[in-house]
Formats: sequence, structure tokens, C-alpha cells
Amino acid sequence: MSRFFSQKYASLEPYVPGEQPQDMFYVKLNTNESPFPPCEAAVKAAEEAAKKLQLYPDPDSKALVMKLAETYGVLPEQVCVNNGSDETLNFAFMAFCDADTPAVFPDITYGFYPVFARLNGVPYTEIPLEADFTVNVEKYKNAGKTVFIANPNAPTGIALGLKEIAALCETNPENVIVIDEAYVDFGAQSAVKLIDTYENLLVVQTFSKSRSMAGGRLGFGIGSAALISDLNTVKYSTNPYNINRITAAAGQAILENESYTRENCRAIMENRAYTVRALLSLGFTCTDSKSNFIFTKTEKIGGGALYKALKARGVLVRHFNKPRIADYIRVTVGSREQMDTFIARVKEILEEVK
Ligand code: PMP
Repeated sequence: MSRFFSQKYASLEPYVPGEQPQDMFYVKLNTNESPFPPCEAAVKAAEEAAKKLQLYPDPDSKALVMKLAETYGVLPEQVCVNNGSDETLNFAFMAFCDADTPAVFPDITYGFYPVFARLNGVPYTEIPLEADFTVNVEKYKNAGKTVFIANPNAPTGIALGLKEIAALCETNPENVIVIDEAYVDFGAQSAVKLIDTYENLLVVQTFSKSRSMAGGRLGFGIGSAALISDLNTVKYSTNPYNINRITAAAGQAILENESYTRENCRAIMENRAYTVRALLSLGFTCTDSKSNFIFTKTEKIGGGALYKALKARGVLVRHFNKPRIADYIRVTVGSREQMDTFIARVKEILEEVK
């Protein structure tokens, strides 16, 4: 730390993203990326857009916003686009939280929420998940705080139903409810259809998972026009050109090929079921994941040891050395071939620790 670093950030502990190792080839099942490349039309659109890189992009990303609005059956003024859903989430902390309006989220959830809170000087409370890792919405009633819920949750993969999301919105009419749907396309229900009923509901989604664009950095928010306008006020006060023209063009092309996305999601869900079956037969327990990852543990080997043994065999998964979840590993659901390699390596490791 330099002696010039602002005191307000002196104790900030940054979010630690999953490893992106460059040293050797890994079967990479650690950051919930898609195993499928973006569709060809998206790659072509990106190439075309690259020819105009001398020009700033459209700060409103109008064409992309229109296409998203059409895809989700909402009005363009109910949509904002950002540089990954991380940016939308950070803007939500900036726009809807402060010293008088703290944040609240589960104790086990996306690790960026407490970092965004501290970055923005927002006090926060963590509500423990139930023993079975579910979110009990009763505990968020009249919270008096901005509520952040990942649905499905990470890293558990467990999803809430729409009734529970509606209950959250209804019992917190004076506060914003942010539903982070990064993983919603793999079997959970989206709360987008509730935005006209609840003016305090903000749904956040991303192109990083189901839409094969983690490298393009594209996220979006859907909510009442007033909430979206607030987020855009923050965006235009931070970085009006947050979506570069290559990403905007690729994102639009991906939306024009929704059947490709849906087919990929179907394949991921199938591979998830296949891998869960294999893990169960090896004596693992798995949470009921509605996401593109599996959260699993076994009595036979600890989470940290399994993570290390898999890495030594060229398979990268994620381990969180945290209370309540240190026994688990989180495994991204990839292609069938990747999952077969993962299962084979797990079998070898279990043989060794017998
Ligand atoms: N929300 C959750 C729950 C996540 O796991 C992630 C991925 N790390 C994100 C948001 C952010 O995704 P991105 O910024 O790539 O859209």
C-alpha cells in the first residue's frame, strides 16, 4: 500500500476471483463459465464491430437494450446494461444503500456482496442460511435494509420460488430487493415477470454463464423505470461507455440466437444430472442445484484436500475455506467430456485415500 492510498480503502479486502491459471492446461471447472463458445453470429458481429474501434460506442447501448427488452417482454426503460453483472451489483450498492440504508444478504452467498458493501461504506448484516442451506425469507421481513439475494444462490445452487421472491418484495415495501439471477437459466424461475407488480424489485442477470460471454463482460438489470434511471445516473457518473462496441454487438447477436442459448442450457442441465448421479453413486452428497455448478462433499476426503488432489491431476474446481462450507467443493458443469474426466479423477483420488 502506498502512503497516498485513501484511508477509506485502507482496510478493504478485495474480492478474490477464481483462478485463471496460465501455467498449464486444466479442465477448468472453477469459475462457472460455459463450455460452449459464443454462437458464430456473435463472433462475426464482434469482428465487424472491431473495424470501428476508433469510435466510441453508443453510451445508451440502444440497440442492445431494445433487444433485451424484446427478449424479456419489458419496456426498454426497464432495462440497463453494464460491464458484467458485477458492475450492475456495485451500482445497486451505490444507488440503493448508504449509512442509513444498510444492506442485508445471507451468510453464505456470492462473496462480492460484502466487498461491494465495504467499498461503498455501506453497513451490512448477514443472515445465516438454514441448516440445509436454504434461504428463509421470513427472516428478511421488514428488514429495513436493501436485500441482496442470489437466486439460485452461490455457491449452493439452491433456488427460491417466485412466491418467496414476491413475499420478500411485499414485506419490504420501503426497500429495494435485488435478485441476482446470474444462474437462473439452468432451471430456476426468473423474477422478471414480477417487476410490474413490485416497484422495489431489481433483477440482475449476466451474459457470462448461459450466454457464453464471460470474456465479453456484459450484465444487465431489469426493474421499474425509476430504479433503472437511478442505476443509469450512477453509470453516467462513473463510466458512460461501460459497454464497448465489440461486446454490445456480440451480445445483440447472441440474443438473436436464443435457441442456441436454450440448447446449451439444456445440455448443461443434462450434464449436471449425469454428474450428480455419478457423485451420488460414489457416496457424495450434493445440494439441489438449479445452476451450472454442483456443490458437493464426501466423508471420504475433505474439500480442501479434494480440491488440491484434483488440481494436481489437471482439474480445477473451487473450494471455499469458510465456516459451514469448507467440506464442499463447487464444480462447474462443463461438457460431457469434461465431466467424465472430472469423475474419473475423483474415482482415482478416492481409491488412493481408501
Ligand atoms: N453474481 C453471482 C452470484 C456470481 O456468481 C457471479 C459470477 N462470479 C456474478 C454475479 C458476476 O458475474 P459477471 O460479472 O461475470 O456478470
